[in-house]
Order: sequence, then C-alpha cells, then structure tokens
Amino acid sequence: MARCEQGYLCDVCGDEVESISNSDLYLRFVTGEIAAGDLLAAPERHLLCNPFNAQFIESEQVPKVYAEGDFDRRQLDSDYVQQQSQLLTRGWHRLQELAALEAPLPLAEYPLPEFRKQG
Ligand SMILES: [Zn+2]
Repeated sequence: MARCEQGYLCDVCGDEVESISNSDLYLRFVTGEIAAGDLLAAPERHLLCNPFNAQFIESEQVPKVYAEGDFDRRQLDSDYVQQQSQLLTRGWHRLQELAALEAPLPLAEYPLPEFRKQG
C-alpha cells in the first residue's frame, strides 16, 4: 500500500506528526539544537513524545509532563531549568507562529533570531 501522501512519522509512537506546531524536531531546529542540514536525518517526534524537551514548555496549551528519572526537570539544576524553560517556551511560540503562516517562510528563517545563520 502506497503511503507517500503521509507526513513524517513519530519515532516514538509511530503516528504521523501532522504539523510543525506539534513537532519536537522543529522545536529543536528553531532553538538551535539541530542545523537545517541535519533536519532530514534527525528523527521526527511529537512534542509530547519527547518529555525531555516538552517538560520545559510553559503554556496552558501544553499538558504538564516530566521526563523520567534523572532528566526530570524537578531533579535538575534550577538555573538550567530556567534557561531551558525560557528557550523552549519561546521556541514553542515560534512553532505556533510558523504553523499559522499562510505563506511558508524559507527554512533559514524558521529559527529564533539568535539561531539564524548569518549570510
Ligand atoms: Zn508520537
């Protein structure tokens, strides 16, 4: 059965990741964790399928989750937690913005300003 119309499948649960607003991969891209050139090679996941990042998003629209064990944000250094929360919450808002655009931006303009490549 041909499934070429599908988007990328989540590496964790196997379901389709339908929008970048719900994409862990793009969250990592807009926050500078992965480069544009690595996007195709990196696994796609739903935001909530990767609690390590999702636990830092502070929004009423995102369910509260915690990573397991040592990576639970409640176990981590508070400076680090604060820094990650600010960054990933901003990144999450950026994804919602991008998902709502009528005309897509070039990929190079997706990331938060400080992570855009110059030139
Ligand atoms: Zn998933």
